[in-house]
Amino acid sequence: MKILVTAGPTREYADPVRFLSNRSSGKMGYAIARAALARGHDVVLVSGPVSLAAPPGARLLAVETADEMLKAVLDTVEWCDALIMAAAVADWRPARKSPRKLKKREMEPVLKLEPTPDILSSVRPRKGRRIFVGFAAETENIAAAARAKLREKGLDMIVANDVSKPDSGFDVDTNRAVLISADDATGQVELPLMTKDALADRILAWTEKAAAHFGL
Ligand code: C5P
Repeated sequence: MKILVTAGPTREYADPVRFLSNRSSGKMGYAIARAALARGHDVVLVSGPVSLAAPPGARLLAVETADEMLKAVLDTVEWCDALIMAAAVADWRPARKSPRKLKKREMEPVLKLEPTPDILSSVRPRKGRRIFVGFAAETENIAAAARAKLREKGLDMIVANDVSKPDSGFDVDTNRAVLISADDATGQVELPLMTKDALADRILAWTEKAAAHFGL
């Protein structure tokens, strides 16, 4: 299969040196890219700024902002059979970006925020028979919140992450997740704490099964 993976955070600039971002390390998305390559798939990895080595064999598209990530995904989505959106896209960005470094006293009026584009919603019209997998980082009512996102974003599956514990979610090598499928027949699988590599492999196995079901 041809698999498009997004990973890492985005950076939303207020000026050339200041940005809004989040704690995403990119580890989950890079693990998915490596697992997909190990299972014999072609991989394009759209990555926000992270300090991880590019998985050998993947085509890496390095981006910084949500707008750049959106453009890279729009350019590549028609190539893929499955999109796995593991990136933690920043939700908000400064409404204006100053071309020069702002003085301290100039910061406050600039820090009016506007929402970033929702990448999954933007590519939804191009879904066709492609498989779309999203992530939901939650701290409470994990499965219910993720199920709502699955429906809102028209996904085939969502990986609901518990980010309230020190051993799962941001920056660590392990994760605890619930896989929730749009197809009631496959339903919901609560996975125990495992390495991000092991979780990535479970996500790929699910994606391959869904692809076979879709006749891809
Ligand atoms: O941030 P949120 O919890 O809504 O993210 C759910 C899913 O939507 C994730 O897969 C994330 O990559 C994706 N997303 C997106 N565009 C955004 C924000 C999130 O595609 N602007």
